[in-house]
Amino acid sequence: MSPSDPQHVVAVVGGAVSGSVAAEILADHGVEVVVLEQNARPYGKIEDGLPRWHVHQRRKEYERIDARLRKEGVHFVPRTKLGEDVSWEELTQGWGLSAVLLANGAWRDRPFLGGERDALVGKGLVYQNPLIYWFNHKNEQSYDGPQYEIPDGTIVFGGGLASIDVLKVCQLEVYGRALEERGLEAPMLEMEKKGIPAVCERQGIDPQELGVSGTLLLYRRRKQDMPLAQPVPNATPEQMAKTLAARAKLLEIAQRKYLFRIQDKTLPLDLAIEGDRVRGVKTVRTEVEGRKATPIEGSEETLECELVISSIGSVPEKIPGINMKGETYTFSDWDLGIYEGAEGVFGVGNVVTGQGNIRASLLHSKKVTQFLTENYLGGATGAAAAAAVEKHLEARAPLPPEKVEELRERVRKLQERVSYSGYDAWISQVTPSDLE
Ligand SMILES: Cc1cc2nc3c(=O)[nH]c(=O)nc-3n(C[C@H](O)[C@H](O)[C@H](O)COP(=O)(O)OP(=O)(O)OC[C@H]3O[C@@H](n4cnc5c(N)ncnc54)[C@H](O)[C@@H]3O)c2cc1C
Repeated sequence: MSPSDPQHVVAVVGGAVSGSVAAEILADHGVEVVVLEQNARPYGKIEDGLPRWHVHQRRKEYERIDARLRKEGVHFVPRTKLGEDVSWEELTQGWGLSAVLLANGAWRDRPFLGGERDALVGKGLVYQNPLIYWFNHKNEQSYDGPQYEIPDGTIVFGGGLASIDVLKVCQLEVYGRALEERGLEAPMLEMEKKGIPAVCERQGIDPQELGVSGTLLLYRRRKQDMPLAQPVPNATPEQMAKTLAARAKLLEIAQRKYLFRIQDKTLPLDLAIEGDRVRGVKTVRTEVEGRKATPIEGSEETLECELVISSIGSVPEKIPGINMKGETYTFSDWDLGIYEGAEGVFGVGNVVTGQGNIRASLLHSKKVTQFLTENYLGGATGAAAAAAVEKHLEARAPLPPEKVEELRERVRKLQERVSYSGYDAWISQVTPSDLE
């Protein structure tokens, strides 16, 4: 395509798995793509959420994201946050883009106790996202964020796969410290891979001799309800039984390797506070029927601990101008990520699903982006069925060359603002030499 042809220009907010997949598909369809990324590096949950023991997987995903973002027709704009450096109104109305894709993930921890005790964050209450960020970056010389020391007996609220990772982080820290205090080795990667008992055994010590009581997970429903494995849609009783068995197996292996404790059927009522610090958590036991967990009157109890970690899920961040319904942005079609509040805005990956995994984010992004290119941007095939969707599908005329040039100029200015001069040079400039 010649630079003076009319062209579609699409902004993608967030450059990680979903954003980079969307950018690649669009660029392959001749669309010019502007990727706005709030951080210096674009890897999102892969770098800051997936715990750093996933050494190979993280490296592989970085490479994949790099390959997509350095494609011709993709303009990467780092350190540029939607809602701060560029407003929603500017992006969706002022810029005159062909479409906007939100691929900004789910970075706000769901508020623990409705957020009522958030004043205690850093004073014995910690949320999952900053905790994993710290765990992944704490050994870098340039890390200057909050520091955490995980005491023995820490209590974690949660129940999903991510909370198992949080438990592992706690146990690796606590046992690591206990081993080092005895002059023994505590290699984090080996402890994660082989399990804590195996590393203790290699050094001739029984884990019990270390005097660690262990991290405790509190979960509101029954152990077998923990969403560690998902049943197929409309599962038969046999398929459901298989899922429950898979969950039990996963949990049993994780407990055997990392020695954490679980108390199920327990809800938090409040934090127990002494002075200005958390000293425990007030809980109540529950009776579980289906998905319903009902507090049992008279079963209230205070469990002492120095640290409470909330790992109850992540939701999209509030961005001024984006409509929300409860914890999520207002999408009229979740599958296709069609945003209700403005014409030509779509959501891909975690920002829509709220959770999920790398593959789910990738597939969701592919689906939405293909839908967008084939229908909305007047690309290849595709006739839409539903009338509501069709309204969105009216093919748009590509932008005239002078408009495309104006947008390129905007992007150049944003890139100059952060001294960005090309993808590979930028990535090597902003990657700490001691990044794990
Ligand atoms: C503890 C934990 C363990 C996990 N383990 C696994 C696992 O073992 N296997 C697996 O498959 N998946 C795992 N996942 C899930 C997986 O990491 C995510 O589903 C996936 O990476 C999400 O990709 P995404 O691109 O949709 O979102 P993200 O990776 O969150 O990307 C969003 C991007 O948008 C940027 N952004 C956010 N707001 C703005 C803004 N306002 N302006 C500009 N940019 C913005 C962010 O900086 C980020 O780069 C795990 C997640 C967690 C938290």
